Amino acid sequence: MKIHNSKTSLKATLLPFKKNKKSIGFVPTMGALHKGHLSLVKQALKENDCVVVSIFINPTQFDNQADLEKYPKTLENDLILLYSISKKIIVFSPIASELYNQNISSKSYIFSGIEKEMEGKHRAGHFDGVGTVLNLLFRVVTPNKAYFGEKDFQQLQIVKELVKIENLPINITGCPIVREKNGLAMSSRNKHLSEEEFEEAALIYLTLNKVKEKFHDLTFKNLNQLVENEFKKSDFFTLEYFEIANSSTLKTDENKLKNIRYRAFIACFIGGIRLIDNMALN
Ligand code: AMP
Repeated sequence: MKIHNSKTSLKATLLPFKKNKKSIGFVPTMGALHKGHLSLVKQALKENDCVVVSIFINPTQFDNQADLEKYPKTLENDLILLYSISKKIIVFSPIASELYNQNISSKSYIFSGIEKEMEGKHRAGHFDGVGTVLNLLFRVVTPNKAYFGEKDFQQLQIVKELVKIENLPINITGCPIVREKNGLAMSSRNKHLSEEEFEEAALIYLTLNKVKEKFHDLTFKNLNQLVENEFKKSDFFTLEYFEIANSSTLKTDENKLKNIRYRAFIACFIGGIRLIDNMALN
């Protein structure tokens, strides 16, 4: 397995693939890998001649320095996991100044308004950071296909806009959410949960399922109320937001509209750890 820290050496490794018109699949990650990340890598391996996985904790997408500092770093274990799947994987793990060329700051993006909803509202500058780092990574890796988890559904929609804005010929593929046995969506941040918090965190998935079950019978207002009540009952959780949004625009509607696909989105805190999840409702 090849591990690259520099753009030049990564490009040199990818050159023969490009010359021979082989397809390059790309999975961008911030490391602390788990089965959710690995599902993306496995799909990329199935569909491409070579696969690049980047491991880079992007400073510009964090709105909070403490959150950035405590983000889990498990590079050695990440490499072992990737190696166990395929020795052919190419890993790109640059330091920030290598990727950003000394100017570690974000570009401003307008992603057709999607950037203003949910995560965009609650994490200032987050999607500018995501757009900036992916634009840089895409230009180094030059993938044919890039893989993103529906776990970060809003990010997936943002990336689809990003490749249009930046005019990049990359096919963006969304992959299903991988969950723990208790339903909690796998996340690098779960590493910070105590055993008790981990068990309690099943509430997120259980609540999303309740919303899905009652979607056809209740109004949006009542569904919101249902979620607020579920979270109020728990001593562990603080609900940051719950929204039912149009799956394409990520905007909310007053009432259900025909022929629109809706999705429920939750962001909440448990023991100071911020978790997000979402589920298709119809
Ligand atoms: P991250 O390292 O958190 O930036 O995630 C890298 C990629 O893995 C993103 O496209 C995420 O959406 C995806 N991902 C993270 N957790 C999961 C999960 N539980 N299921 C599926 N994809 C995931």
